[in-house]
Amino acid sequence: MLSIFVEASCNRYVRDECRFCHVYEPLSAHAKEDWHMTPDDARLMVDKIRLVAPLKDLARQEINLTGGEASQNPHIVEIYKVFRTLSTNVRLHTNLDINSEKSKRWERLVEITKLRGRIDITLYPTVWKSRQKPLLEKVIQLQNGLIVNLIYESLTDLLKQINILTDFFNEQDKNKFSPVLGLLGEFHDRLKNVIEKNPRCREDEFLEGMGDLGNYVSCPGGFIFAVNAIPSFYVSPEGIRDMTSLPFPKDIYMLECTAVRGVIEIMTILQTGEMTPCCDVGNLKCLPKFGNLLVDSPEVLLQKFGESQKLMETGALKNKKNIENSQPGKWVEEGIPPYCV
Ligand code: SF4
Repeated sequence: MLSIFVEASCNRYVRDECRFCHVYEPLSAHAKEDWHMTPDDARLMVDKIRLVAPLKDLARQEINLTGGEASQNPHIVEIYKVFRTLSTNVRLHTNLDINSEKSKRWERLVEITKLRGRIDITLYPTVWKSRQKPLLEKVIQLQNGLIVNLIYESLTDLLKQINILTDFFNEQDKNKFSPVLGLLGEFHDRLKNVIEKNPRCREDEFLEGMGDLGNYVSCPGGFIFAVNAIPSFYVSPEGIRDMTSLPFPKDIYMLECTAVRGVIEIMTILQTGEMTPCCDVGNLKCLPKFGNLLVDSPEVLLQKFGESQKLMETGALKNKKNIENSQPGKWVEEGIPPYCV
């Protein structure tokens, strides 16, 4: 999968508007063009991806347009069309924290679903009722699938989010969404059981309690629903992520990096063109870069892939030794986070 940032995490917009934005009027004299991907940059990226076999293969599987908030990019529909020439499977991730159907952000999302792109969301309980829920009702009419990410701070928080989704699908067409309700019901029962037995359980006890529960179902008519439960982490003001997740503070959260093993499963491409083979680039602060898609030639990119992979391999071995020698958390000179092995 290629995960492509079409926006920086600027945090300057207030829901539907770029209120304090330095790229657009009235402050455009202080432009920071690389905050928003342009269609020209997207075209340049696509031309380059076609020439780099590992990237071309990842693109064919899936392209995920994200950010920052992807729907905030005023050119997102055009950008979607550009990436669609590489893959039939282009999705867009949004927070769906949008004021109303009159918002330009919403209009862009509707356009993309009309072009057969898929919208996926992260659930935010604080804005669920007022903003996400009414628009999610529309989203599931506009497309034939949905992935919902649930970022949870504790197991009770996760249970609350499952309940929110269950209540939501109970209000929709029950015939169509009965498999979704079945999946959420099973999720709820297993999780409740874990919480009742052992509310402060370790992560392996949680996983054992949840068992072989899958995370997706197909509904009559072909609608596919998937739910991803993702633990959240404390991130320091300096942007450094903790080694333990909030729901399982007793366990070091190891990342078995596939790039270390010579396999790239995901490549994140920032709007600046920088590439890292990882999904949480902002918080993990992995330093070895796999080149710059906008600047480097295909030959240079492949050379950097090889060099950075070797660097990561060496760093991961050092991380393992540090953990064995009771020195977890120590950063190695290769610049990969201490929990990557
Ligand atoms: S070393 Fe860690 S942060 Fe870097 S790409 Fe691998 S998993 Fe991601």
